[in-house]
Parts: sequence; structure tokens; C-alpha cells
Amino acid sequence: MTGPDGRREQLSAALARLEQRLVAACSAAGRRRQEVTLVAVTKTRPTSDVAHLAALGVRDVGEARDQEAAAKAAELVALDLRWHMVGRLQRNKARSVARYAWAVHSVDRPALARALGAAAALAGRELSVLVQVSLDGDPARGGALPADVPALAAVVAQTEGLVLRGVMAVAPRQAEPAAAFAELAAVAEQLRRDHGAAGWISAGMSHDLESAVAAGATHVRIGTALLGDRPGPGR
Ligand SMILES: *Cc1c(COP(=O)(O)O)cnc(C)c1O
Repeated sequence: MTGPDGRREQLSAALARLEQRLVAACSAAGRRRQEVTLVAVTKTRPTSDVAHLAALGVRDVGEARDQEAAAKAAELVALDLRWHMVGRLQRNKARSVARYAWAVHSVDRPALARALGAAAALAGRELSVLVQVSLDGDPARGGALPADVPALAAVVAQTEGLVLRGVMAVAPRQAEPAAAFAELAAVAEQLRRDHGAAGWISAGMSHDLESAVAAGATHVRIGTALLGDRPGPGR
């Protein structure tokens, strides 16, 4: 199981197990499997892993750092994947991200929204945007406070080059994920009242996808359950 073929089989088995979890979670929540998009988060993994996943039918790929994402997207451009930026973003990365990203899940301030919109317009592209919501009251970890979401969403909706799709969050480390995802669902409902089409909820990672699907997630972002533990310290 060491060569590239072994890795493909490993990933195929992990994908099958993950698919079973998703089917069970949707069924438990009375939802259809097609309502939930799997975004495979491939940060820190080799580009060959992304190519294996693409061969296994995965179309949506998530990355957390622009430099790494840009290199992988360029190498795999022929596969026509949808690249999702899910990590914190500095404004000076907007130009780069706007060239390859299909969606940005981590927009948490107006200045970043405006920079991405300008870059997307310049590149002649349209970016799907999710407003990242902070659920632990500590925006230092990324995300806008729930009270700031309506104003930020309005900026995104009015910015050329951007299409407002919905909200994204990471469950706080200490809290019960169900409570955090319920709070996110309430923010999402308000967003849908203001912007009818913006119904995406990006929530749920390897350890809490069931609870996210129960709370209405439309996109789950899965890394370790698919690809194994990430190499290196702190990543
Ligand atoms: C790394 C990452 C994920 C995937 O996390 P896993 O626990 O490996 O499934 C999801 N969302 C974001 C924002 C991430 O940075």
C-alpha cells in the first residue's frame, strides 16, 4: 500500500466510509444526500492526493493557504475542479485567490470583500462568497460577530465580482457543536430573509459533520476523515 495505486485504494476506502457517514447523517436529519456538498479539504497534502480524489469523483476541493492552493490549482488546471478557499485571508492575497478560487468561505470583513470583488472583476470572474461567522465571540480566530453579519452581507451583495451565497463557521473548540451550529442556523435564516438566494451553510468538519448536517449544513469541509492525520506539528 505504499505506491500511488495503494494511496488511491486508501482514499477510495476512506471516501466510501465518509459517504456512509454522510448518508446516515442526512437520513437521521430527514434530508436528502444531494442537499449536502462534500468539500475535501486537502491543505498540507500533496497534489497527487487531490488528483486521486478527483479520479474518485470529488469535484470540490478546499484549501486554507493561498500559496499552496494557487500552486495546486495551477498544476491541476486540466481537471476543472472547484477550489474553495476556507482559511483566513489577508487582503493582499485577493488578486491571487480571485484567479483560481470558485468560492471563498472565509470573508469576515468589508475590506476583504471589496478587495476580492475588485480582483474578481479585474480577472473577469465571479466568486461565490460565504460570510464567515464567529461563534465563540472571539473574532481574532476569524469570522464576523453575528451582529455584524447583516452589514457585511450587504457589502458582499452589492460588490461587483462577488455573489453572496451564505454563511460559514467553524465550531468553537470548547463548546457543544450542536449549540454552535444552531446559532449559525439562526444567522443563516436571517441572511435568507434579507437575501433570498443566499442559502448555503458551510459547517461541519471530520469530527462534527453529523451535528452540522442535523443543523442544516449544505457544505461540509472534510480533511482528516478522508486523508488521514495531517503531517507536521500544529497543522
Ligand atoms: C482544516 C480545515 C477543515 C478540515 O478539518 P478536518 O478536521 O481535517 O476535517 C475544515 N475547515 C477549515 C476552515 C479548515 O481549516
